[in-house]
Amino acid sequence: MTPKVARFLRDSMPATPCLVLDVDRVEENYRRMAAALPLARIYYAVKANPAAPILERLVGLGSSFDAASWEEVSACLEAGARPEAISFGNTVKKESAIRAAHAAGVRMFAFDSEAELRKLARSAPGARVYCRILVGNDGAEWPLSRKFGCEVAMAKELMVLAGELGLDPYGISFHVGSQQTKTAAYEAAIAKVAMLFTDLKEAGVNVRMVNLGGGYPVRYRQEVPEIDDFGAAIMGAMAEHFGNALPEIVIEPGRFMVGDAGVVSAEVVLVSRKGAEDPVRWVYLDIGRFGGLAETEGEAIKYAFRTPHDGGAEGPVTIAGPTCDSTDTLYEKSNYRLPLALESGDRVELLATGAYVTTYASQKFNGFQPLAEHYL
Ligand SMILES: *Cc1c(COP(=O)(O)O)cnc(C)c1O
Repeated sequence: MTPKVARFLRDSMPATPCLVLDVDRVEENYRRMAAALPLARIYYAVKANPAAPILERLVGLGSSFDAASWEEVSACLEAGARPEAISFGNTVKKESAIRAAHAAGVRMFAFDSEAELRKLARSAPGARVYCRILVGNDGAEWPLSRKFGCEVAMAKELMVLAGELGLDPYGISFHVGSQQTKTAAYEAAIAKVAMLFTDLKEAGVNVRMVNLGGGYPVRYRQEVPEIDDFGAAIMGAMAEHFGNALPEIVIEPGRFMVGDAGVVSAEVVLVSRKGAEDPVRWVYLDIGRFGGLAETEGEAIKYAFRTPHDGGAEGPVTIAGPTCDSTDTLYEKSNYRLPLALESGDRVELLATGAYVTTYASQKFNGFQPLAEHYL
């Protein structure tokens, strides 16, 4: 938690649940990322947190943007981004959204299938397109499985076809899965892309960009490698596989850029036990799976907690949200322990929750309002 966030929570005591985010920390993260990968162009993955103060700060820093929908494209434009600085990176787009983005001046689009490529040829003629390939997601705490990307052999065919359809077959992208804790995931993916580049050049395709996607991790309960470790591994692999013929490099950090800038402030609604002898207490918070903590699904992302009683004796807990749905249980198997003194009415903080929280909140399930947001 940054000093600015701590001061705001202490002095303003905002109603809970809320996200408090220090935009200066986003700027620091942008600068750290740029220093770790100086040859890469940064396209902030807007979905991680699309709040205007974040987008506006990043526009001022010269960032580009990875948008997944026409609505996200619009949000970037409203924040002052130039259309040339926006990549429409979702491989699954409504054709009306492609048309709208193209009319607004967006000229870079992702695809991973022939049907999508034909939509682009019709509705974004002449645009730069890049093909997303499937790569391993081992090491990612929030993997993306096979939903996006295609096999390398298909990517080759589609990049050739892109040129025939009058599009500019500009590059290849991948995503190693979010909260990726292993630098080797990028190295393996880069090796795969380099082989495809060789094949494409032989086939006469003027491919010239590699998009390394997102995945760069944030520290929650466990240490993760530093961003400089990822930078070194990535540039090492790029040099090894591309030598002096380095292509343009694009990265799309989402979580890394905003995660540790924000804190969710929540209230303990109830602490109870299921039997007099049960050692495990149930701790119910005023935020849960439906209030924005969607990434606790499968206990994938394990947030760190701060309480007013830290340092005192602790015991095992199950942590749950406030709604009447049993899937609104956050952590049952991840060995969470919280202070024995914790009680109803205490305020707790969930650390490093600036990414993938505000927009994952449901509309009034059980009557609860979506998370309030404060940008400092
Ligand atoms: C979600 C997403 C990102 C951002 O991923 P992080 O793990 O948050 O860095 C980047 N690129 C694409 C295409 C995405 O879908």
